Amino acid sequence: MPQALNQVLLNPSNLTGANLSSWLDVGGSEGLRKAIANPKQVIPTIKQSELRGMGGAGFPTWRKWEAVARQKSEDKWLICNGNEDEPGTFKDRLLLEKGPHQVVEGMLIAAVATGANHIVAYINPHETEAIAVMRQVIGLWRDWLGDNPDLALELKRFEVVESSGFYIGGEESAAANWVGGSDFPFPKSKPPYPFESGVNGLPTLINNIETYAHACHILRDGPEWYRGLGLGDAAGTKIYSLSGDIQQPGAYELPMGITLRELIDDFGGGMLAGKTFKAVFTGGPSNTLLNADDLDVRLDFDSLKAKNSGLGTGAMIVVSEETDIVRQVAGYVEFFASSSCGQCPVCKIGTRQAASLLRKIEQGRGHSSDLKELINLSEMLPGSGRCGLVTGAATVIRSSLEKFRPDYIRIINR
Ligand code: SF4
Repeated sequence: MPQALNQVLLNPSNLTGANLSSWLDVGGSEGLRKAIANPKQVIPTIKQSELRGMGGAGFPTWRKWEAVARQKSEDKWLICNGNEDEPGTFKDRLLLEKGPHQVVEGMLIAAVATGANHIVAYINPHETEAIAVMRQVIGLWRDWLGDNPDLALELKRFEVVESSGFYIGGEESAAANWVGGSDFPFPKSKPPYPFESGVNGLPTLINNIETYAHACHILRDGPEWYRGLGLGDAAGTKIYSLSGDIQQPGAYELPMGITLRELIDDFGGGMLAGKTFKAVFTGGPSNTLLNADDLDVRLDFDSLKAKNSGLGTGAMIVVSEETDIVRQVAGYVEFFASSSCGQCPVCKIGTRQAASLLRKIEQGRGHSSDLKELINLSEMLPGSGRCGLVTGAATVIRSSLEKFRPDYIRIINR
């Protein structure tokens, strides 16, 4: 039996587009009013909800908010990260275009909780419609807040900033760098972390678009309600960007904790006619691949971590038996290699070398010595860079070698 759709963010009543009065008609602003009435209660509420970051790492949201709130600074920044550029991820664009008010209200709630007074929606320049909608929506909120003195927030900045459009610009310190005026979004070594030294050295909160949208509803309807949306020990809901060899690709908001099989069969409509399931590239292609043995894994942060994988952004790229895994991995690693900012020699050289070996093997020009070199690289690269890009590239290689080694050997022996 299909699980019930627990739609909140993608509930049609919350997809009001840029229309602010429609959003207010469905309870919009109630979460913000509660936050302003009792700012000290916001972070404990987010903690009780067990909300975690929806942009990749799944870090407990309240910890980030508390870290920024504790900083003693007259000026603090808040970035809503909409750089979304991972292959297979399209949920943030959808939220910005169709349900932007819940995102903006969540940003304002986070600003109340942390003391942030420079608020920026940081959006990929390729998403021209999302940028236009958010510019309009932020303007509407500015006016509306001005007309409601009881909700006055002292904001020095509240606007859209277009990101560089580079994949690496989604990394937190890179985003802070770019918003601060850098010519290129270079990731920085950590520590210091953005919460203590982000935009222009000031405390900076950075969360993904979906995270802020969840926060808006948590403040309105309460943490118990939110936790209860999940299955088992998992809390809340998650938007999946489902694509690949399935009948019904699309964005699905589902209870946290449904199984991979349910996602594919009950919501994705199953595999395309005549195709058999082979694997899923999870969370953007930088996590451990899941195969047929993993179909009953629950899709939540902890269950996937137990499989050495991750929920990441919630992108699920499903591939069938006909798929050449080595070719697909080669394409992803080429993407990572071309996205490397080049600051860390091991990342710059290692990802290119890995991409070249993968392409050589995939094209039937590889030897067992190439496979050995690829294995060595996949073991050497993780953790060798300032940011997670190089680790992500190594992870998809390593897991494909673990789960589909016969595919590599078959091509080499052909
Ligand atoms: Fe740049 Fe790669 Fe180093 Fe990240 S790991 S900072 S992408 S060179």
